[in-house]
This record gives sequence, structure tokens and C-alpha cells, in this order.
Amino acid sequence: MGVDFVPRRAFLSAMSDQGVILVTGGAGYIGSHTVRMLAEEEGRQVVVLDNLVFGHREALVSEGVTLVEADMADAAAVGGIFDRYRVDGVVHFAAFCYVGESVGDPLKYYRNNTAAPLTVLEAMREHGCDKFIFSSTCATYGEPQEIPMSESHRQQPINPYGESKLMLEKILSDCEAAYGIRSVRLRYFNASGCSPDGAIGEDHDPETHLIPNVLRAARGDTGPMTVFGTDYPTPDGTCIRDYIHVQDLARAHVKALGYLEAGGRTTACNLGTGKGASVREIIDAAEAVTGLPVPVEYGERREGDPPELVADASWAEELLGWKAEITDIRTIIETAWAWMDGERKGRYSA
Ligand code: UDP
Repeated sequence: MGVDFVPRRAFLSAMSDQGVILVTGGAGYIGSHTVRMLAEEEGRQVVVLDNLVFGHREALVSEGVTLVEADMADAAAVGGIFDRYRVDGVVHFAAFCYVGESVGDPLKYYRNNTAAPLTVLEAMREHGCDKFIFSSTCATYGEPQEIPMSESHRQQPINPYGESKLMLEKILSDCEAAYGIRSVRLRYFNASGCSPDGAIGEDHDPETHLIPNVLRAARGDTGPMTVFGTDYPTPDGTCIRDYIHVQDLARAHVKALGYLEAGGRTTACNLGTGKGASVREIIDAAEAVTGLPVPVEYGERREGDPPELVADASWAEELLGWKAEITDIRTIIETAWAWMDGERKGRYSA
């Protein structure tokens, strides 16, 4: 286990009344944007717990953020954080997120996404920390029964990834009843885009997501990208998704934390724009943003992809005062392009 910290900020925090916010998976894509917002805009002291299997040390760009490089299933490391700091709340991102892989190796997903966070929840119970923000997913709903989908939509996942997240949602409900640990389960639709200044962004390996794949193909980093299915019952035959900007997601976590700090009870909120874009529309928008042609191949449908997923995010607005601000797909792609084609060429690991 490695521990890095900036003593000045740790000292200042010790002098103040506010404890720290523990962010698991804070060096990952959505985690790193949230850490930056908590640290730079909210002035919170943040401790990141990340094993750096998928996270990037370089994604922690804010001064004073502490990184504990360890696995969240490591009880000694997690206990060490709670012993050392007064943890006011936990924002939990650390998870595996490849649907296809979860079908081939479900135990890997149940161990990491469902079982490992129990170590963090046990430490919270022991130390009297009662606020937990959970990075959940619209994959907990499974096949859509109606569009847009609200939080009361049936939850019946169609793959182990969605199931592993739904199980933790259920565990969290029980944790409020038994231990008073309150939580907000944030069900993301399609996370997308990068920080508008191009400083941090999306760097998955392997990359399976549509927007980075389209932009990589445009840059000539890869061969043609494959459109998975053109015979869906949608206006242009390709799948429709609700792309929600990572900065909007980060803000929702900050708001959810504020809600729990004000005494809010356990709840779940969809995070989306309420607007869908098809794969074809994403490709067209990417060509307009980059000025480059996107080489495309047309392939079979990808297993488990429903034709359309669009959020009804009105509960998040009513409860948290949160609404997506970046709703134009071109703007979202511009931020992804700023990261990918910027000076750092969008690669932490290159
Ligand atoms: N998609 C595609 N080609 C790709 C990656 C994705 O056609 O290389 C499609 C995929 O079938 C889905 C949509 O783009 O309809 C969004 O997929 P992504 O993997 O980004 O997110 P998901 O909806 O699976 O969470």
C-alpha cells in the first residue's frame, strides 16, 4: 500500500471542523472529475482510495488531494484511512464496468462490485460515518418497459454487471435500516465527454465506448469503428442512448452529498439529459466537430444492447436541484475531442 499526501492541506484540514470526503475509484474517469470539483470548487479535503488498476495517478490534478493506493477490499488500508481521518462521507466509484466481460466472468464482477464495497461500509459502520453516494447505473433496469425510464422502472438486469450494481443498491437500503448509513444511488445513463479545459478525460483500456471509439477512428488511431446494428426499430436503425456529460455527473455527486449532509434519506436518482442520440447522429456530430471523416464498418447487433435508453431525470431535479447543463451532443463531443486531440493527446498511459 502506498500513501501520498500534501501535508499543508492535511494540516489545514486538521485545523478545521470539516472532515474529509473519501472517494473510492477517484482516479478513474468519472471519479477524477468529481474529485476535482469537490477539491477545487467546493473546497473539500478529499482522500482517494484507488488501486490504480484502471485509474490514473495523473488524473488527480488538484492540489492537496491525498491518494491512498490500495484496494477497497483491503480492510487494513480502508481501516487506516478511517483511523487517520475523520471521514464525513464516501463517494463510491470503484468498480469494473465491462458488460461483456461480466457475462464471461461474473464472479470477478460480484467480488469487485458487490463484495469489495462491504469493507468500506463496515468501516463506515464502525466509525459512525453515515453518508454514501453510489455510482450506480441504468443497467440495473434491464430491458426498458417504457421510455423515458424513471426510478420506479422495474429493476431486472440482463447481465452480471447490472446485477452486481443492483445488489449493492439493495445492500444500501438495508444499511440505512440497520445502521443508519444513508445513501444516494445515482443511476447514470451514458457517461460522456471530458473536462472542458482538456486537463482530464476518458482513458479506458480496452476502450469500448462509442464516443471515444468514433473519435479514435476519426484521428486514424484505429481502423474503422464498427456500428453495432443498423436494423433497430429507431428512426435511422441504430441504437439511441442518453449521453450525459461527465461534468454534469460530477455536479450531481456534489449535490447528492449536500442532500445527505442536510439530513436526506436514502434514495435513487437517474442522471441523464432526457434526450436521446443515435449512433448515426453521434458519428455525424463527430465529423462536424473534428472536420474529419469517421471511417465506419457496419456490424451485427452487440448482444444485450436495447434499442433505446433515455432517462426521466425529473426526480434528481426535484430532490437535488440538479439538471444536466451540457445537453447538446456536439458540445459533449467537443469536450471529448479537446481531451483526445489536445496537447496531451488524451492519453495518461501513453
Ligand atoms: N456502439 C457502437 N460501436 C462501438 C461502441 C458502441 O455501435 O464501437 C454502440 C452500442 O451498440 C450502443 C451505443 O453505441 O448502442 C453506446 O454504447 P457504449 O458502449 O458507449 O455504451 P453502453 O450503452 O453500452 O453503456
